[in-house]
Amino acid sequence: MQTVDQFDFSGKKALVRVDFNVPLNDSFDITDDARMMAAVPTILKILKDGGSAILMSHLGRPKGGPNPAFSLNHLVDHLGKITGAHIHFASDCIGEDAISMAQSIKPGEILLLENLRFYDEEKSGDADFAKKLARYGDIYVNDAFGTAHRAHASTSVVASSFGNQKCFGYIMANEIANANKVIAEPAKPFVAIVGGAKVSDKLLLLENLMQVADTILIGGGMAYTFVSALGGKIGTSLFEADRVELALELLEKAKAKGVKLTLPADSVCADGFTNDGGLLTCSSDSIKDGWMGLDIGPKAVEAYVSEILNAKTVLWNGPMGVFEFSNFENGTKSVAHAVADATSKGAFTLIGGGDSAAAIKQFGLKDDVSYVSTGGGALLEYFEGKELPGIAAINAVVK
Ligand code: AMP
Repeated sequence: MQTVDQFDFSGKKALVRVDFNVPLNDSFDITDDARMMAAVPTILKILKDGGSAILMSHLGRPKGGPNPAFSLNHLVDHLGKITGAHIHFASDCIGEDAISMAQSIKPGEILLLENLRFYDEEKSGDADFAKKLARYGDIYVNDAFGTAHRAHASTSVVASSFGNQKCFGYIMANEIANANKVIAEPAKPFVAIVGGAKVSDKLLLLENLMQVADTILIGGGMAYTFVSALGGKIGTSLFEADRVELALELLEKAKAKGVKLTLPADSVCADGFTNDGGLLTCSSDSIKDGWMGLDIGPKAVEAYVSEILNAKTVLWNGPMGVFEFSNFENGTKSVAHAVADATSKGAFTLIGGGDSAAAIKQFGLKDDVSYVSTGGGALLEYFEGKELPGIAAINAVVK
């Protein structure tokens, strides 16, 4: 894996794709700078070598051209603070001004380009647009794992203009190394916990995990399509009728492969999708009419915790229930604590997917697990066995 550590940036200009897609409040203050902070080590490596960094990113989902609400100029001051560097800002990511600013930038300085998504060409992966971006730098660095599954101009197409002068930043390198610890060479037993709302979103993940995991624990709304497929009564729980066949196939495949695919024995149910209605706990396959399973129940929690504590590798993607409601957070919270406990017993534990990362933070455990991935969709696709354009573009060796 070619990373920034294999390059000496002295006297060089690095064109770095970062993920500065940070949340802003109504006054355009940054409300969570985690993504910016994560990129600092890569930026400082370049600057400390005696190089300069030209940073490019998207921010939000602007439609139809430039829009001040999505301008990266809101990030300039904070970027200066967290890097200690002098920041130049190009108010158009392409064009004469950006070119001359990139030419005159000095070692140790940063040039931040305006939001790439002010141009539709970014998302369409336009080759000319990518060539225009490529002119700014001598070396291309991709450190934006969150967009690695997109074949956009700045995330993959641009790489082809740099020959072999291209590499991963530390975030990308870390994400790939940690994902590989799980998918390529997991210490056994490997327990995967898969939850979330819909089974349709997780089918490919489950198929692929079946090749490597020993046990798969299912939770969340997706569990009920499996329970129903097996003939259980699920009341008004989430259900995807068009996935019943596939759910049965997955259960068969798991059996044939000797993978333990486990459904929650019991559920905490509600008489409406609310935190304030009636509550009852029952077997997941005999939920009363008009009631819905919104969390895994105490028997399921006990079984899942015991599997997790025995694991040497744990992957967790998706909550066990509607953890946003206090009455239905217990399953997710218990799993989060078990994953932290497994970590302290020496297991490698990876939390991936936006909602499980949010859950582990909500329960104050993000520093008690091995790694919390920054890339929801990108990580999911990696675990589905897909080739991510952002990774492939760096790995493609030019002879
Ligand atoms: P996903 O984005 O697919 O990982 O799903 C996460 C969402 O699924 C969260 O917002 C949860 O509230 C929701 N969820 C989890 N379990 C259930 C359930 N049993 N019924 C309805 N929604 C659920």
